Amino acid sequence: MIIKVLVENYIKTTDSILSYHVPFNLEGDIAIGKRVVVPLNKNEVEGFILEISKETPNFEVKDIISIVDDEPVLNKELLSLGEYIKSITLCSLISAYQVMLPSALKAKRNVNIKSKYKTFIKLNKSIEFINDYIDKNKRNKSEIALLNELINNSIVEKNSFNSRVANKLKDKDLIIYSDKQIYRTVSDETYKYDKLILNKEQEHAVNTVVSALGIPKVFLLHGVTGSGKTETYLQIIEHVLKTGKNVIVLVPEISLTPQMTERFKGRFGPNVAVMHSSLSSGEKYDEWLRLKRGEAHIVVGARSAIFAPLSNIGLIVIDEEHETTYKQDSSPRYHALDIAKYRSKYHNCPIILGSATPSLESYARAKRGVYELLELKSRANGKKLPEVKIVDMCSEVKKKNYLISSILKDKINEKLSKNEQIILLLNRRGYSSFITCHDCGYVAKCPNCDISLTFHKTNNMLRCHYCGYATKMYDTCPECSGEIKNFGTGTEKVLEALENMFDAKIVRMDLDTTSKKGSHEKIIKDFETHKYDILLGTQMIAKGLDFSNVTLVGVINADTSLNIPDFRSGEVTFELLSQVSGRAGRDKLTGEVIIQTYNKDNYSIICAANHDYFSFYDKEMEIRRALKYPPYYYLVNIKIMGKIYDDVLNTALKIKNYLKDSLSSDTIVLGPTTANMFKVNNIYRFQIIIKYKKDDKLYSSLILLQELYLNNKINIDITFNPLIL
Ligand code: ADP
Ligand code: ZN
Ligand code: ZN
Repeated sequence: MIIKVLVENYIKTTDSILSYHVPFNLEGDIAIGKRVVVPLNKNEVEGFILEISKETPNFEVKDIISIVDDEPVLNKELLSLGEYIKSITLCSLISAYQVMLPSALKAKRNVNIKSKYKTFIKLNKSIEFINDYIDKNKRNKSEIALLNELINNSIVEKNSFNSRVANKLKDKDLIIYSDKQIYRTVSDETYKYDKLILNKEQEHAVNTVVSALGIPKVFLLHGVTGSGKTETYLQIIEHVLKTGKNVIVLVPEISLTPQMTERFKGRFGPNVAVMHSSLSSGEKYDEWLRLKRGEAHIVVGARSAIFAPLSNIGLIVIDEEHETTYKQDSSPRYHALDIAKYRSKYHNCPIILGSATPSLESYARAKRGVYELLELKSRANGKKLPEVKIVDMCSEVKKKNYLISSILKDKINEKLSKNEQIILLLNRRGYSSFITCHDCGYVAKCPNCDISLTFHKTNNMLRCHYCGYATKMYDTCPECSGEIKNFGTGTEKVLEALENMFDAKIVRMDLDTTSKKGSHEKIIKDFETHKYDILLGTQMIAKGLDFSNVTLVGVINADTSLNIPDFRSGEVTFELLSQVSGRAGRDKLTGEVIIQTYNKDNYSIICAANHDYFSFYDKEMEIRRALKYPPYYYLVNIKIMGKIYDDVLNTALKIKNYLKDSLSSDTIVLGPTTANMFKVNNIYRFQIIIKYKKDDKLYSSLILLQELYLNNKINIDITFNPLIL
């Protein structure tokens, strides 16, 4: 028997499908989708069986060494789903299969180094400390690579790094070793979350979806914060389970929403499997098996849970559908929604997209009737949405209130005296590299793109990352001759100031204070039990939390996300302000929100303050139409990367000309411009942006482009529908 095996081969975009002979005694155990160990060059590697053929080829083939799995890890659906991911993201087939599987079931590149007991590495210092170390030790690339990996993933397997490098960092106390990766979001105590009586709007939503079970259609559940979307999901799921089918529930990042998981477990108990990045590979494998064996019928998990090995799917829920974490930002660059749609067609089941602030793309589709719109317009408990006040910081600054306006200060004191709790958002998201005038709030923007310019310190220039426009950095504000400042205030500094200003217990929650596993959950629990009066944090506090005693939300600086150099900055700002406002007054007490800004007339801020998604949508769509951005146009981002500046630039120019010639004349090709992180690890990065509505030649042209630059010194990365540029 001859089989065709797909093996990992280190080259990103091509696949190695090799023929091997199966010895007679192993033939009975061969099945498509199982892993086998095969000889490759001088190594033993694992690969997936793709084909079985009875014919013997006319060249000599080697024998396989062993069969890894008792049952296929890739079933028919996942095998064809891999092909689909390859076709829409232009990744390799092997990377598509690898991304679908928990690491215990991925095909190993080198079987010999597979060790039974894994050691994990974690950071032992704050991210700031590590970044500082990186700045001072730029030349030590292998150390920096490891540290960067840890900053991004917070925990990695020691095996994947040179142990000499790891040992050195351990000696310096920067990292620690551990044999566990354990972090459980859900406590093992059996918590019960009782069924609630639905209100009219919820009931309508439940009935509508239930009557569509068995049909592959998409619902957009647009419900204001606190409208009871979770209860709606839970009751629809109850119906699905009664039909004997399974359910996938995606949440943005599960460790950020422990309350959500708790509700699912509290309602459905051990029928729920939880999958997220903080589980150890053993735990992930256990949950995967429970789903595959039908011991659990619901999976609640982050992006990759969309690949859960469930047969007979009856419903897919994507909660907070506007979140960018649903798009993977390394190859294969898939969006969970595309996978959900594929699986929904395969299994004939509906999808529910839920959000208080749907992405423009989704809402536009709902308006066009591509999705069915379901609305929850009021809060489940009948409470009004909190009243939002906008405070003009330009005039506060004149009164020397740089950080906290007098009205916010008074409100905080008032709430403290009533023993109520406060959430303060310091929206640090984005870059500190944009510039703004301290007197009038002017922000330097590109004249062609309406996107804020990024300050490049090295050559003292302001640049647009979209079209390449550049101008010299201003000495004074061009509008009012005021003082130009680089923006950026750290949470640490703010915490200190707050502690001086108020007699209160304050806890800070940001990337630095939550880098240790479990610390995030602890902060939330401690705040919930009122060990602290004030929760100060970055955008991670804005999402999905439900505290009954919080009556005031203050946004210290609404402007930071407005000024990120991206066409979505308005949308991101609106989302963030709406979400964080939604944390106030969710229970019996009435809530208030104060938003401090230097841009009091900005529509994103005004619409968020009025809880007015519809006006925001109209206004933002107008801008997107005028500037030819999604959802009016689709985008493709092509990154061209290499070590030699001139080579990269010349290649980028060549690629641009090639694209101009080969794509349809209605398609717009912009650039090349320097990419957002222009030089990373001595690699220069340029980018070309394609805007198109429909282009039959797009995929074939890009595939050809990839093939052209294979094995070249220049690397090409293609992202379809990038969420950030
Ligand atoms: P969302 O996810 O839409 O922001 P949640 O699902 O967190 O809102 O619900 C907000 C609050 O309302 C929760 O405390 C929930 O228990 C409560 N709730 C939801 N539905 C009902 C209902 N039908 N009756 C009473 N309370 C409800
Ligand atoms: Zn000014
Ligand atoms: Zn521009």
